[in-house]
Amino acid sequence: MSKAIKVTVKGRVQGVGFRPFIFSLADQYRLKGTVQNNMDGVKIHVESDSFQNLESFVSDIRLKSPRLSKITEIKSFEASYEAFDDFTIIPSESKGSSSLVIPIDAAVCDECLEEMRDPSNFRYNYPFINCTQCGPRYTIISSLPYDRPVTSMKNFPMCDDCAKEYNDPLNRRHHAQPIACPKCGPQLKLYEITGNEIQVNDIVHETRKLLLEGKIVAIKGIGGYHLCCDATNEETVRLLRLRKNRPDRPLAIMAISKQFAQKIANISQFEESILTSPEAPIVLLKKNSIETIANSVAPGTSKIGIMLPYTPMHHLLLDEKTLPFIIATSANPSGLPILYRDSEAFEYVKDIADCVLMHNREILHPIDDSVVECNGEELTIIRRSRGFSPDPLNASQDVNGIVAFGGQMKNTFAIGRGEQIIIGPHIGEMDHIEMEDHFKNELYHLMQWTTVPNQTAVIDKHPLYATRNIAKSYSFNEVIEIQHHHAHMAGCMEENNISENCYGIILDGTGFGLDGNIWGYEIFYGNKREFNRIGHLNYTPLPGGDKAVREPWRNAVGMLIHLYGQVGYKMANQQFPGKENLISVMNEMVQKGINSPLAGSCGRLYDAVSAILGICEISTYDGQAAILLSEVAEETNETYSIHWIDDTLHFGKMITEIIRDKNEGVPISKIAGKFQKTIVESFIKKLYALQPGKVVLSGGSFHNMYLLSELTKELTRFGYDVYHHINVPTGDGGLSYGQLVAAAAIRV
Ligand code: ZN
Ligand code: ZN
Ligand code: FE
Repeated sequence: MSKAIKVTVKGRVQGVGFRPFIFSLADQYRLKGTVQNNMDGVKIHVESDSFQNLESFVSDIRLKSPRLSKITEIKSFEASYEAFDDFTIIPSESKGSSSLVIPIDAAVCDECLEEMRDPSNFRYNYPFINCTQCGPRYTIISSLPYDRPVTSMKNFPMCDDCAKEYNDPLNRRHHAQPIACPKCGPQLKLYEITGNEIQVNDIVHETRKLLLEGKIVAIKGIGGYHLCCDATNEETVRLLRLRKNRPDRPLAIMAISKQFAQKIANISQFEESILTSPEAPIVLLKKNSIETIANSVAPGTSKIGIMLPYTPMHHLLLDEKTLPFIIATSANPSGLPILYRDSEAFEYVKDIADCVLMHNREILHPIDDSVVECNGEELTIIRRSRGFSPDPLNASQDVNGIVAFGGQMKNTFAIGRGEQIIIGPHIGEMDHIEMEDHFKNELYHLMQWTTVPNQTAVIDKHPLYATRNIAKSYSFNEVIEIQHHHAHMAGCMEENNISENCYGIILDGTGFGLDGNIWGYEIFYGNKREFNRIGHLNYTPLPGGDKAVREPWRNAVGMLIHLYGQVGYKMANQQFPGKENLISVMNEMVQKGINSPLAGSCGRLYDAVSAILGICEISTYDGQAAILLSEVAEETNETYSIHWIDDTLHFGKMITEIIRDKNEGVPISKIAGKFQKTIVESFIKKLYALQPGKVVLSGGSFHNMYLLSELTKELTRFGYDVYHHINVPTGDGGLSYGQLVAAAAIRV
């Protein structure tokens, strides 16, 4: 008996070769019918007289779907039999440009790698091999819909061999827009930093030789340039740090394979699946040995960021016997955007690199490597960029025409289109004019591509964030301001489908509070529209403002003087000997309230304790003092004294107890552990007396896995349902997303 079914598939199923996949699957089971893209996925109608074939077809969709697709939902329904003669791909149901898919960059696939290594293949050793399931996308597009003439491949007319594959519906390179071969495609070129071309036959081999000699080479990849050097060469790694003015911040490693990565880090099966995924992010992994690579790659931390080669060129460059590990860090002098324009390369890295490995496939949109960490079987996104951005996330309501401008640090922007949220690539710290230009450039293109109306701009409440002026330079119908930590909370609610009132515990570095002080240790009760602040940390001054953020010992001095007056002043001098003059100036500043903004934030509290314990008095990268503290902390159930007076958490007694423990010779690891446990305890003390409900955890301090898991465990014990971020960073990289959903709730 003839039977028909309708199948709808949702998720990332457009622009990833899904319809040709369905076409060949239908062919395999001899089914008739149609496949079509529509607004929220792919719609399939299939008919057969074999019920078994229909069933196998549906189960194969999930089992055999293309590498780049991500199926979130498959539904099948009985349908009326229409007696189709064949199976066809029919034009998209959705009209207009507003639903166009923006494809994302993907790591080279296994089939392409196999071909690249096959001496009989015409792409043997070709560093730009790709197919419909791998290669550059977002980074090479100038406009949509995605088609070769609107990519940087337009300058490379296809040869006959490539054209044949491109035009063959059954070939795995059918409509692979960046298709190329040694005859017709992009080529590598190697230069000295002076601009002299190094003319050799085997450029990859020559580059490897230079790296092995201890040279630093700027290497152009998919989303920009990396600064690379041999990661096993201590001297070179130190030189790179010196030249890049990056004394301590861990450097990312590219390891030739999982087997080699395992020589330096523990890798679970789940972590392996992330390392080898098409997104190919940097994964923070637990170090297991420091002998294999240079000590100064990631000093003082138990974790190391590792990625696997993700372009064919990286695979050719690394070598098991001679060069299994390289440093691959974004090529940008501190504070500037990632280098991606060839014309700027020599000037940009002239003081850092010795040589430049270039290619002539232009990068139109730079994108940094993504950074993730695995918590058991759960993925935590620290920096959402290459491979993830600008893949849309589903929104719980209409967000069309809302553009959120994000924060000042770790900036991203977000654009609402229909019921989708598109978070742009990681931009970074908005402290330089070059960063602002970079931001505007990327925002401009994504707004063009999404063709959303300029309805609502969303900005942070901070009066001095660069994004405030940028937003005001556009013409939006309205500008909505969202308090920093409310944006964090709203984002976490959205990710977890919570719309009713709930609690929010927001632990963060810095955010502008409604009272003009710096917040970041918050208990809120509310929803995406509005909130009440029901708990926060006692404020203490930051003498010198930003300077006290970069130099946590100053923050500690401010705290001691504020909490204990002249006694605190004496304590400060005891804790930080040799700094009497500076401390005396700070004493003045704090007493008179000169350039000493008040702060009650988790990040600053960690900083101060870290400085008092002598772990980190001056930090050279964001979060260093807190990270190093939690690295040494030993788990314990003991806590220090804290107490709530109404909605304010007082921690002065804890600070004196910490100093007493330190003076009595209690191990630093013990004190640090007790301090972290006290933070967790502070929320239990406040929340145990309240009516349990849902609580969302958000803010940058939740990158600290101890705080996240311990607080989740304890709150759950007291009857709370605890939620955290899933696809969006818990830190300020996720701020734009939260701003956008909060504004959507407000404007309705
Ligand atoms: Zn491929
Ligand atoms: Zn070709
Ligand atoms: Fe924040």
